[in-house]
Amino acid sequence: MTTLSKLRALHARLEACRRCPKMIRPVVHGAAVDSKVFLLGQAPGIREGPAGKPFAWTAGKTLFGWFHEAVGVDEAVIRERVYFAAVARCFPGKAKTGGGDRKPDEGEVLACRPWLEAEVQLLKPKLVLPVGALAITQVLGHTGPLAEVIGTAHETTWHGVKVDVIPLPHPSGASTWHRVQPGKALLAKALQLLSRHEVLRAAVR
Ligand code: SF4
Repeated sequence: MTTLSKLRALHARLEACRRCPKMIRPVVHGAAVDSKVFLLGQAPGIREGPAGKPFAWTAGKTLFGWFHEAVGVDEAVIRERVYFAAVARCFPGKAKTGGGDRKPDEGEVLACRPWLEAEVQLLKPKLVLPVGALAITQVLGHTGPLAEVIGTAHETTWHGVKVDVIPLPHPSGASTWHRVQPGKALLAKALQLLSRHEVLRAAVR
């Protein structure tokens, strides 16, 4: 079985997952892409389920704009060459306090982790791009302010695989972090790191 066919089989099992009672299905995942670049988002929003793909709406426009700035290719190329995963794969619903979507709770993060582990084991990525605070915590264990990690590059072992890590802020419209200082300058630094990373450059070539 090739990596791609194993990935497709994994996606079929993932689509049938019903582990989290509070989560709103469908399960959302990216295309089966045999890539060494692994992007980790937080969870799909309300638009992603009907669209059937992650980052399908405004946050996606911003995210793909960042990639275009960094490596000069458009959304279609990124979706074909980068593997898109997430900490949770179903829509958590809106936050009761307003201001965006509910953050997946600890139980949901744990419930969804085996899917993530299986993907990492299968693809053995060389570069991981955690997008937003929750994803960054999962990969780097960092729980402090975003300003401490955006614009920096790391090496770590994640689910048994040695990876380079370049964290990105969440491109959600609900967040202004990346539009005001120091976030704006730190994002520019992160995009520079992306633009120079050989694994990403090779993936989009
Ligand atoms: S969030 Fe993950 S573990 Fe929970 S139901 Fe969706 S796919 Fe399954």
